[in-house]
Amino acid sequence: LGSVVLALSMAACSGDGAGGGGNDSDKPGDLTIGVSMPTQTSERWIADGNSVKEKLEAKGYKVDLQYAGDDIPTQSQQVDQMITRGADVLIIAAIDGTALSGQLQAAADAKIPVIAYDRLIRDSPNVDFYVSFDNFKVGVAQATALLVGLGLQTKDGGKGEATGPFNIELFAGSLDDNNAHFFFNGAMETLKPFIDAGTLKVKSGQTKIDQVAILRWQQEGAQKRMEDLLTSSYNDGSKVAGVLSPYDGLSRGIITALQNAGYSGDMPVVTGQDAEIASVKLINDGVQSSTIFKDTRLLAEQAVVAGESFLQDKTPQANDTETYNNGVKVVPSYLLPVQTVFKDDIKPVLIDSGYFTAEEVAAGQ
Ligand code: BGC
Repeated sequence: LGSVVLALSMAACSGDGAGGGGNDSDKPGDLTIGVSMPTQTSERWIADGNSVKEKLEAKGYKVDLQYAGDDIPTQSQQVDQMITRGADVLIIAAIDGTALSGQLQAAADAKIPVIAYDRLIRDSPNVDFYVSFDNFKVGVAQATALLVGLGLQTKDGGKGEATGPFNIELFAGSLDDNNAHFFFNGAMETLKPFIDAGTLKVKSGQTKIDQVAILRWQQEGAQKRMEDLLTSSYNDGSKVAGVLSPYDGLSRGIITALQNAGYSGDMPVVTGQDAEIASVKLINDGVQSSTIFKDTRLLAEQAVVAGESFLQDKTPQANDTETYNNGVKVVPSYLLPVQTVFKDDIKPVLIDSGYFTAEEVAAGQ
């Protein structure tokens, strides 16, 4: 059956060789967009999936939305199924950026355009477009938020009143996620002068990405590593002043480890990313210092715009054609800006924009 559906889907393609699953005569209701998301354990991906689906359905398209439970074989299988069920465009947020080459080749053979969603898919010529945020700048923003939280810098980029030195620890995301490297590189470029000057001391000595990365961005992994750091490097009465964390889920694991070790009023400055509601509450309560807000509604909108361009046999408009080399080619990209959120920013940035209500922030859910 699969091959019959695949053959039908190929027959529906325009066949102009330019890539593009649509056909001038197709109505939106005849077209299906496969949307593959990594996991439902993080609320951002649920918001992403829902936003993409709603926006595509509002335009009349059919949507095949799947979550892969952070399991690589499951995601490969789901993408295979989308292709055999006749997807006209694929929108994919990969778990492992290097694991989908086979699926992408099958998509290319069936002339199905592929949009990498938020995470670049690597080592394949068959990635047609990339929608994401400026991921290097996310890392810069996280490190800057750490400096501001410690009082070494002011929010407007001036010199802060604190002089240090401060003990800090560094965390990075999953090594198989291209973004983790961009975040860490952006952060380290920002922190390096302070580390070199001795103002910031990474007491554990762990400053390389493969020493500080947390597989699959798991909260428990971050908690465990922070516990290990406290035992190994802070058993002499010294204190942690700051932790660079690239994602709110990791930040919550780090905070739990710190609280279990007795930190409360003297909680270190802990950064984050994604403005997850549980972490926004922690920021509001003065427990977590900051997060980086990525408006998933805008990202979903860009994915829909790009998907629709492909369906109309047009080339989606990129705003960056240099940065994202996936190992085989530079993938044309549309990158969105991000916003840093400290406690003072919760109302103007998150509540006034309708992302969360004040009640949700107070409840943390
Ligand atoms: C995303 C981040 C997210 C992380 C963990 C990254 O690829 O860009 O927004 O925090 O994955 O889900």
